[in-house]
Amino acid sequence: MEKEIILLKLGEIALKGLNRRAFEDVLIKNIRRRLKSAGEFSVYSRQSTVYVEPKDENADMDLAEERCGKVFGVVAYTRAGAAEKDLLKIREKAAEYLREPLEDARTFKVECKRSDKKFPYKSPEISAEVGGYLLEAFPHLRVDVHNPDITVRVEVREAEAYVHADPRPGAGGIPVGTGGKGLVLISGGLDSPVAAWMMAKRGVELTAVHFASPPYTSELAHDKVVRLLQKVGEYAGRIKMVTVNLTRLQEEIRDKCPEELHTVILRRFMLRAARRVAEDEGCGALITGESLGQVASQTMQAIACTDAVAGMPVFRPLIGADKSEIVKTAAKIGTYDISIEPYEDCCTIFTPKHPRTKPILHFVEDGEKAIDGEALLREALEQAEARQILPELQN
Ligand code: ATP
Ligand code: MG
Repeated sequence: MEKEIILLKLGEIALKGLNRRAFEDVLIKNIRRRLKSAGEFSVYSRQSTVYVEPKDENADMDLAEERCGKVFGVVAYTRAGAAEKDLLKIREKAAEYLREPLEDARTFKVECKRSDKKFPYKSPEISAEVGGYLLEAFPHLRVDVHNPDITVRVEVREAEAYVHADPRPGAGGIPVGTGGKGLVLISGGLDSPVAAWMMAKRGVELTAVHFASPPYTSELAHDKVVRLLQKVGEYAGRIKMVTVNLTRLQEEIRDKCPEELHTVILRRFMLRAARRVAEDEGCGALITGESLGQVASQTMQAIACTDAVAGMPVFRPLIGADKSEIVKTAAKIGTYDISIEPYEDCCTIFTPKHPRTKPILHFVEDGEKAIDGEALLREALEQAEARQILPELQN
């Protein structure tokens, strides 16, 4: 049987000194979990490379490769052909495994890495040998060491040798679970799923809270958020989602608080609710999709008013991003098409005609006193519903 494996190159985690082992363990656990439905694989690491080896022929390598491309902590990945550690076998394997790309290329070079120093040939000798063989096998090819169409890479490792072409860029970042737990405030919009993805990329394990206001917001709007989290989950893994019903609270704000402060008051109650969910779930930070100046509630003054009740760090990875940059990331991670579906969000019902863009904290605090916020909040949280969102793993 022709043996093929997937090689994953580790990024930043290689630099983390004493923590490196712990980081690698988390990464490997994440990879194993992500590959579960693609077949049986053995996953292990050696020298800043993770090896993903299929255990039998039922393993779905295409699916496994796709999944590996969405694991944070991996800078580059590639499928590779495995060969016995014998120079003749290695050069034959290179010709056979890379036949198609070599036929399509006009120029090539060979690069070799030898981590098994007992192998009797040095890297330049291996490269020269393989290069010479490929020139004979593919007479149309020329060597170009500066700007080749394809670089044939040979790695002589402990157990075997591997040949592959240029690796593809991985998802980057650091392994999910190495950066603590964060609670993302997720709406059905474009921004919050991207914000969630960015923090997962920095190692944060996600829990999510969504605020709904039925019957003003529909079951379809809720389902949209579930599907967004499934998409984010392809990178972030499983996400617990807590849904909090804010209908009563919003109606009370509408009926009793000064109209121009509705938005900022609602946002303060969202942050208060989120803070309590975060504390219950063991999360050390809140995450939102806010971007400075995007809407009335995202001015510096409005953010100051909401931060005043957060009680923990609020991560806003998009604070300096333009909409066009956010859209680009959303398209890349697959949330864009879902986000643009036209369902209402609780933030967009009862919106005042002229929201105060520069709210002043003590006026907001006064305005809030018109309702029994604490009781409403407690009631909403008592009825919160939780569910686990598993990544959408399409086969
Ligand atoms: P998004 O694209 O994420 O909806 P937005 O530009 O529409 O953001 P706002 O509606 O002001 O901005 O919301 C700002 C942030 O507040 C969102 O990014 C999200 O983190 C949080 N948020 C808004 N609505 C909800 C909701 N219904 N449930 C949970 N969080 C919400
Ligand atoms: Mg929104």
